[in-house]
Amino acid sequence: MLAAPIQKLIEAFTRLPGVGPKTAERFVIFLLKSGRGEVTRLEKALDELLQNIRSCEICHNFADASPCEICTDSKRDRTQICVVAEPQDVMAIEKTGSYRGVYHVLRGLIDPLIDALPQQMKLAELVARTPDATEIIFAFDPTIEGETTVQFISQKLKRDGLILSRLATGLPSGGSVEYADEITLGSALKARQKL
Ligand SMILES: [Zn+2]
Repeated sequence: MLAAPIQKLIEAFTRLPGVGPKTAERFVIFLLKSGRGEVTRLEKALDELLQNIRSCEICHNFADASPCEICTDSKRDRTQICVVAEPQDVMAIEKTGSYRGVYHVLRGLIDPLIDALPQQMKLAELVARTPDATEIIFAFDPTIEGETTVQFISQKLKRDGLILSRLATGLPSGGSVEYADEITLGSALKARQKL
């Protein structure tokens, strides 16, 4: 039987995505062994996170200012809005360096098995932004949830003069035709490019 404070912290860590009981146990033992310095560092970082990070009132990404740096950047094309499910998707697209529009973080995707929109979903906020947009790019995972969300939102946004587009899906670079599953290979064929 573990001491109650140890058990409590293990439980707290297992609430984090991707952390199972074994990893949580390792975290706790690490903190116990490294003593106050490490705990204080963690405490300070968490405190700073809560103090300084907020949700951008325009794109709903997490940032240290609202509106965020991307939304206020005059060099970015505000008529092109890339819609993503989660804040980490913005980071991934920004790393490519090949997108100069702005974002909208939806905070979730629609689950076709549940007959309701996720409560936290920033859909009305997206609809409110679209009158000034010329293109909406959907950048969701190629899953049933991603597909359902694209269908649902594009019905809502459809109007003349607004381009609705989505990321091409297909073979990852370094992937193999022989071992690709049929959905991936099918989308790669559909999204084939002219040489
Ligand atoms: Zn923003």
